[in-house]
Amino acid sequence: MCSITTTPAVLAVPIVKRTCTEAVVWQVIFMKLFYRFVPHSWRLVSVPNRPSGRWHTFVDSAKVRFSCKSCEHGWTSMKGRITFWCAFSNNTGVVAYRLYGQQCGSCTGESYESAMWYPEEIEKVLWNICNRVAHVFYGLARPPIQLNRRPGKPKNPHNSEKCQACKDGVCAERR
Ligand SMILES: [Zn+2]
Ligand SMILES: [Zn+2]
Repeated sequence: MCSITTTPAVLAVPIVKRTCTEAVVWQVIFMKLFYRFVPHSWRLVSVPNRPSGRWHTFVDSAKVRFSCKSCEHGWTSMKGRITFWCAFSNNTGVVAYRLYGQQCGSCTGESYESAMWYPEEIEKVLWNICNRVAHVFYGLARPPIQLNRRPGKPKNPHNSEKCQACKDGVCAERR
């Protein structure tokens, strides 16, 4: 596994220059943040859909990039969405998460392109969910949720028709 530090300045590298895959970045930042709950162990797992059973659910937002595999059109969205589902029992916790895609607006491609997440946005949403876990499962005070996103104004308004999170009903809130 590659080693990275998680200071925002170091992480603010362009996506193309990343040497680690995004999945590894998620895991490394998660482990650093959730180390606070030792001796309890917490795991981060990516899921394609809502897992069954009882979970605490939390939706967050970030600025993300998309790139169409068919026509190579690229676009930015301030409404990159993520849903977390958290559960804790027998000294073990699980944080499941799902990322939502968007369809290309420049061609007729029907598939949802995967969002590319900036490392500092990954760190922000994981920091938020870590504090949420600390509050829900450990009774710790909840610091305010970080709402800041990478600066930038997308040229076009959000297109709900092409947004997977809108289709799933998690894009409606204003954040
Ligand atoms: Zn396209
Ligand atoms: Zn949406």
